[in-house]
Amino acid sequence: MPKFYKFLEVCKKCKAFCCKLDGPTLTEKEKNKILKAGFKDYFIKIGKGLYDVKTKQQVCPYLKKDYSCEIQKVKPRLCLAWPIIPYYKKGKRFYEIIKCPLYPYLNKKEIKKARKEASRISIDMIKNIWEMPLSMKKKIKKFGHEEI
Ligand code: SF4
Ligand code: SF4
Repeated sequence: MPKFYKFLEVCKKCKAFCCKLDGPTLTEKEKNKILKAGFKDYFIKIGKGLYDVKTKQQVCPYLKKDYSCEIQKVKPRLCLAWPIIPYYKKGKRFYEIIKCPLYPYLNKKEIKKARKEASRISIDMIKNIWEMPLSMKKKIKKFGHEEI
């Protein structure tokens, strides 16, 4: 089965948990790429060069009914990096991998690729994503995680 379909099957069963975390934060470049590709504008400016998407009950507006991503080909870096999330501790950058249902299916190459995407996420964006509500953090942590 092609990789995309394997992932889609796992994510369907999970009902797209990661797409129900209030949507991604994006850079201006990422936002423009999505708009240029003809997708609907759900963007809200939250800071210099940073955007969030308008969500309904914390669900990303680009999540389709079959739990796939409408903007798969132009989805932002945060989504490409998942299940890896960068964070800062005492001024030093670390990465953790969330052991969501997709985790056991990821091979070394895919993890490396996600880690590379995560390494390109700006410090401002990291600050913004970790400002998520505690209830959301708890939901994520429920899967378990490890430093990577
Ligand atoms: S949390 Fe993991 S398994 Fe669930 S939709 Fe996201 S990537 Fe797929
Ligand atoms: S852009 Fe796509 S992958 Fe990212 S949260 Fe939205 S639906 Fe999910």
